[in-house]
Amino acid sequence: MTDVSVLGLGAMGSALATALLGAGRSVTVWNRTPDRAAELVTRGARGAGSAREAVTASPVVIACLLKYASVRDTLGPVADDLRGRTLVNVTTTTPNESRQLAAWAAEFGVSYLDGAIMAVPAMIGSREGQIFYSGSRKAYDALLSTLDIWATSEFHGEDAGRASLVDLAMLSGMYQMFAGFIHGAAMVAAMGMSASEFAARQAPFLSAMTQGLGGYAEVVDGGDYTVPGQQSLDFSDLSHLVRASEEQGVDPAPIAAVQALISRQIDAGHGSEGFARIYESLRAAHPAT
Ligand code: NDP
Repeated sequence: MTDVSVLGLGAMGSALATALLGAGRSVTVWNRTPDRAAELVTRGARGAGSAREAVTASPVVIACLLKYASVRDTLGPVADDLRGRTLVNVTTTTPNESRQLAAWAAEFGVSYLDGAIMAVPAMIGSREGQIFYSGSRKAYDALLSTLDIWATSEFHGEDAGRASLVDLAMLSGMYQMFAGFIHGAAMVAAMGMSASEFAARQAPFLSAMTQGLGGYAEVVDGGDYTVPGQQSLDFSDLSHLVRASEEQGVDPAPIAAVQALISRQIDAGHGSEGFARIYESLRAAHPAT
């Protein structure tokens, strides 16, 4: 028997297994493509010839596979072997997929903890990265000293979907920021400015702008978009940004999406209220699925 089994030895799974070995845990490893286990075995891991062998080798099983379907494909056939063990699934899944996995695990008597990794592989093994968890509180408390080997751990509640929801919401903000930067880089390219030159200006500007997040958050949480001191929606009209993008022959899609949220609130008669009111455009459009 070993302490922990790690299924999935891609960039992230290998980093997780390496950190466990470095902290003195005994580790069994398995990967669909066996070659990827070789290096970890030379570092002291025990290689398993099948997912079943890996699952039955340890009381704690870590799944770090590509996506939801990979987890079902890999663990579905060995569900009975998981009974009585703890499954920590750090594969990226949507909140509902995490909940489905938790329900499936409960059916087979498996203690389930869902993990959402806010780190790149190079950050694993330091306190720099964060991993959010949700699902079994009992499993989280019992495993905390192991989980803390990887990153700073944070428990988000017994609803297994919560960690994933916070993770994906954070990534949504990040990708929209990156897309906004790349859109701006495409605009200035027309006058010969390189993306690197643009990045040198954009990075400190965006960094300074993040100071505004707390103010928007206060308005959203308070629910009163008429609080004095806010930039109004009328003032925030971004149609000139859309036109400037079009003048350069650059698709305005990223900024046009923001403008559409603003316009919807102005058209509904809220132009004098604060920019944070676009929150209402977002909430109104899509009932939860
Ligand atoms: P990789 O692409 O490096 O590895 C994917 C892993 O999944 C491989 O071990 C692959 O096996 C396995 N896999 C894919 N499909 C299947 C399947 N159907 N059955 C069995 N195994 C399968 O990805 P990462 O290691 O980077 O990511 C793993 C998870 O961690 C993902 O969910 C990712 O979103 C998450 N994550 C990754 C981060 C990162 O920076 N890398 C950051 C945060 C989260 P094989 O070698 O055989 O192809």
